[in-house]
Amino acid sequence: MEVLGIDIGGSGIKGNLVDVRTGRSPGERHKVLTPQPATPDAVADVVAGVVAHFGYDGPVGCTFPAIVRRGVTLSAANVDPAWVGTDAAALFEARAGMPFTVVNDADAAAIGEMEFGTGRGRRGVVLVLTFGTGIGSGLFVDGRLVPNTELGHIELEGHNPVERWCAARVRKDENLSWMEWGERVRRYLVHLDRLFSPDLFIIGGGVSRRWDRFAEAVRTGVETVPALLRNEAGIVGAAMAAAARGSSS
Ligand code: BGC
Repeated sequence: MEVLGIDIGGSGIKGNLVDVRTGRSPGERHKVLTPQPATPDAVADVVAGVVAHFGYDGPVGCTFPAIVRRGVTLSAANVDPAWVGTDAAALFEARAGMPFTVVNDADAAAIGEMEFGTGRGRRGVVLVLTFGTGIGSGLFVDGRLVPNTELGHIELEGHNPVERWCAARVRKDENLSWMEWGERVRRYLVHLDRLFSPDLFIIGGGVSRRWDRFAEAVRTGVETVPALLRNEAGIVGAAMAAAARGSSS
């Protein structure tokens, strides 16, 4: 079965069909620049356009970079404030005419990694962290997601939220070397280890492609590996979330 997954980010909105048995996509993904300002209305138009691009008819899975509970977006750290309290699922459904499952972007990436990436078959406590404009987190316990953990928003060493100190964007903004940035990430991982005692950290986001540049710097006592699905994890995870809802309802 193929399900459409859409990944909403600060700069781009990407979509692709995903074979939910394999995690693979039969064709090219479609990417549109995120409208600015990224108001709910403007984003909903783009999302409906992505659905139309694929001529798709069925359940759609969609990520959003904020807390998402039952389709409602509840925070707006790096997105337009108008999203707080918006029923994103209802809005997209009305605009695109298809049922939508909306999930936090890092939760979706974690679902993708656990199904088809580095986390495949891993039990215990697995923490997927995505480093980009902010830091997203997806926590899995024995194969089940604990949604909306928002671990980029904790305080560390006086940095509150910690994502403003060690997100991938900060490396560029502050002109840090990979090792300098990696040292911040290491301290963050040590802290998360104290809180959750994870069996595995999976490092996702665009930085996973540059793993060899900072792997040494982020070494802690916990097994730590780069994400495998890279840019596709969100799309794949969103499609999986929509498929899971479809099969349970
Ligand atoms: C948001 C999270 C999101 C993360 C990555 C954070 O600022 O609060 O919901 O997962 O950025 O996009």
